[in-house]
Amino acid sequence: MSDAKKIYGIDLGTTYSCIACLDTHGKPVVLKNSEGDLTTPSVVFFDEGDNVVIGKTAKENSKMYPDAVVSFVKRSMGDPNYLFGYQGKTYRAEEISAYILKKLVADAEQEAGEKITDVVITCPAYFGINEKEATAKAGEIAGLKVHSILAEPTAAAIAWGKANDENKVVLVYDLGGGTFDITMIEVSNKKIEVIVTGGDHNLGGKDWDDALIGYFADQYRQQSGKQDNILAELDTYQELQNLAENSKKTLSAREKCPASFIGGGAKIKTELTREKFNEITADLLERTISLTRDMLAEAAKKGFKKFDEILLVGGSTKMPQVGERLKKEFSVPINSFDPDEAVAKGAAIFGNDLMVNGELKKAIAEATGKKAEDIKDVSQVDAAVMEKAAQKVAGNLGFSVDAVKGAGKTITNVISKSFGTDVYDNKGNKSVCNLILKNTSLPCEASDEFCTSVNNQKTVLVEILENEIGEKNVPWDENLNILIGQAVLDIPPNMPAGSPLRVTFKLSEDGRLDMEAVELSQNGKIHLTIQTSSVINAEELAEAKLRSCNMKVS
Ligand code: ADP
Ligand code: MG
Repeated sequence: MSDAKKIYGIDLGTTYSCIACLDTHGKPVVLKNSEGDLTTPSVVFFDEGDNVVIGKTAKENSKMYPDAVVSFVKRSMGDPNYLFGYQGKTYRAEEISAYILKKLVADAEQEAGEKITDVVITCPAYFGINEKEATAKAGEIAGLKVHSILAEPTAAAIAWGKANDENKVVLVYDLGGGTFDITMIEVSNKKIEVIVTGGDHNLGGKDWDDALIGYFADQYRQQSGKQDNILAELDTYQELQNLAENSKKTLSAREKCPASFIGGGAKIKTELTREKFNEITADLLERTISLTRDMLAEAAKKGFKKFDEILLVGGSTKMPQVGERLKKEFSVPINSFDPDEAVAKGAAIFGNDLMVNGELKKAIAEATGKKAEDIKDVSQVDAAVMEKAAQKVAGNLGFSVDAVKGAGKTITNVISKSFGTDVYDNKGNKSVCNLILKNTSLPCEASDEFCTSVNNQKTVLVEILENEIGEKNVPWDENLNILIGQAVLDIPPNMPAGSPLRVTFKLSEDGRLDMEAVELSQNGKIHLTIQTSSVINAEELAEAKLRSCNMKVS
């Protein structure tokens, strides 16, 4: 038998997380948590001692112990300023996310009856280098081997592609708890190609909840006649948060929903209607439509002017207003596609493909005397060699030969950010020159030439900046540009001002950035792989790993 490890797919969501794998028939299935649910709230409660409680119970505790509970930590992934402090200890977003992963994995191990070590974790398409790196580090802290960080809409499209054997251009409209992603993807039985991606990482179900919380606070003022802000009270706020989410969910199934709460010592009763709810959240829904239009305009520039279908994923697409509004806007079929599970299932399919391809490469290497790392693309391998290797792998894994051969779908992603470097004009004004623009297909490479600014300049500091602007020239502004990495290029002595330099950025298939800078007269080179930009440093990482080993997660 093969020693190949099964790779599980994890949707590490802002509000809910989910873990899936392929069953013995090759069908993706979600594993239940110890509470018997298919999704787990991404909520962490720091209990006494070294105990952390994740999920439903943590969410329920948020009302009693608001200071000990962390929600929406994914919004802080890769944020250098985020630190959660509790009982004299501090935690980065990576570590808190690691506890969520540990809970998912521990429960899935019970359900699957096997040890889980190898995973693919998904992240929103708009995640930049820092956020993706932070996600991978969360896996590492949880003691997992992370094979890939896969974009959520791509994962959803993979799951859809597996369930639908048609060639289509689909829009994945993913409205989750804290994020909105809109992505155009071409799906066929041979490949999955992301064309354009857009969205807003601060728009999700939580904003719909906030609108309701605001409405409840208004009701309090109207009914009590007082003007104080009941939301300033943490307990009340947490109670209203839960009430808002529950009422919202009820309104997805019913036209009306009673809601009552204690605010400022008074009992407030109100009846919500779906109509009122739609009215107070209409601006949020409109924002998703406007972001969709922006994305379509980008796609049109790339020659994609039409699409066949809209896939609704993410829990918030269960609100009837979403499908209704999209139907009004676009005349294509709108399908709710497994909104809670599609992303985890797609990640599981992708993980399985990675594992099978790895095994195929090993078998081909054995047959041809090559090294497995040197076999880049299994589809380029001689047919007879492939057939034999596929049979061998199928035998080892207990899969059909077709299932082994079918694992080789090509997946092309686009990069969701632009990357540039800072430059000065002859008046000394700083700006950013983008080398790679967002929505470029991966892998990609781009170079540009710059020059030194003074005579006998000793060094040049090359900074790599990430931004969301799809144009070459970007104003220098710290709010627009995130520093991803930097490197110093030594310049040979006595070079005049204006000596040429060439900077090259290379992005790999999985969105990792490599930078090379060359001083052209004498070919002095610096080479930098951007992977140290992760927000958690090596020391903190080691400490988090150790602490995570000792934490009891339930
Ligand atoms: P994420 O991936 O961001 O964690 P999910 O896709 O799991 O998010 O969606 C979670 C969001 O979906 C939450 O805001 C939740 O309140 C909302 N949601 C879940 N079920 C429903 C429902 N039946 N009606 C309306 N909203 C829902
Ligand atoms: Mg999601």
